[in-house]
Amino acid sequence: GAKEGGRNDYRFYQAEMTRRSQERLLLERALRRAVEQQEFEVWYQPKLDLASGRVDGAEALLRWRDPERGLISPADFIPVAERTGLIIPIGEQVLDTVCRQQRSWRASGLLSGRVAINVAAPQIERSDYVEALRQALHRHELPAEAIEVEVTESLLMENPEQARDVLCAIQEMGVTTAVDDFGTGYSSLAYLKVLPINNLKVDRAFVSDLPHDSNDVAITQAIIALGHSLGFKITAEGIETVEQLDFLRSIGCDQGQGFFFSRPLPAAQFESWLREQAVHA
Ligand code: C2E
Ligand code: MG
Ligand code: MG
Ligand code: MG
Repeated sequence: GAKEGGRNDYRFYQAEMTRRSQERLLLERALRRAVEQQEFEVWYQPKLDLASGRVDGAEALLRWRDPERGLISPADFIPVAERTGLIIPIGEQVLDTVCRQQRSWRASGLLSGRVAINVAAPQIERSDYVEALRQALHRHELPAEAIEVEVTESLLMENPEQARDVLCAIQEMGVTTAVDDFGTGYSSLAYLKVLPINNLKVDRAFVSDLPHDSNDVAITQAIIALGHSLGFKITAEGIETVEQLDFLRSIGCDQGQGFFFSRPLPAAQFESWLREQAVHA
């Protein structure tokens, strides 16, 4: 009867919960090993200046190469890394890798512009984040204009005072700051204006149906117009088609990023991509 069904549902629920927590434990253990064994790779996706069509920096995107599971995307392990605190040593590895890479790219003149690093809330909340950034630049003899830091709207809104202090110190150093996935959180442009932000990255949710969806057209136009009048540089994420690119360029979007230009690539392949660009420029 209904009662029995209920009991079975409950047992099923419990079994499912046990399975999930076991999976989570396995993932945590594997992630801990990954930190020790340095199983992480940093991939790069170019950013382009839309007016000139030139490469203007890149975004560093983390990948985990697990010996058994293969390549794992950050969406599948960043939340675990944040919850367990492993994001701290992982973030240090990313920062070090990016700085070393950027030093070599700047020395060879292969990449102009900044490499942007994604930073999560637990990293910013540590009092020594700014110092770690300063030391990494120093260690790799890099000027601050080699790096940008990307944070999400939700990070800013969760702890606005602390975020403001940290971003202020980052900006004072000469590292620029960007708000990632803009438009998907609960902030307003007026509020962001009081925070030390240089660049807004319009979330790809607003880009994917351009130029056909009239709501998305209105939203991106408004973000660009108001954002510019408040002094932000605007980057569009997730550009996949030439129509999206043409439209965004026509409404004055400053910078773009997306599969249309290039997917994120391992460092060596990104270098080949950059060389090819230089040939056709
Ligand atoms: P994000 O910072 O917003 O990065 C953009 C994501 O969109 C990347 O996913 C990128 O591969 C993807 N993307 C870029 N262009 C296109 C496009 O044209 N179409 C589509 N469909 N997707 C596109 P990815 O690499 O899987 O990274 C996911 C998220 O993981 C990032 O979102 C970021 O929030 C986080 N993440 C990545 N690397 C790091 C890191 O080193 N540290 C931290 N804390 N988070 C990171
Ligand atoms: Mg990002
Ligand atoms: Mg984003
Ligand atoms: Mg995102």
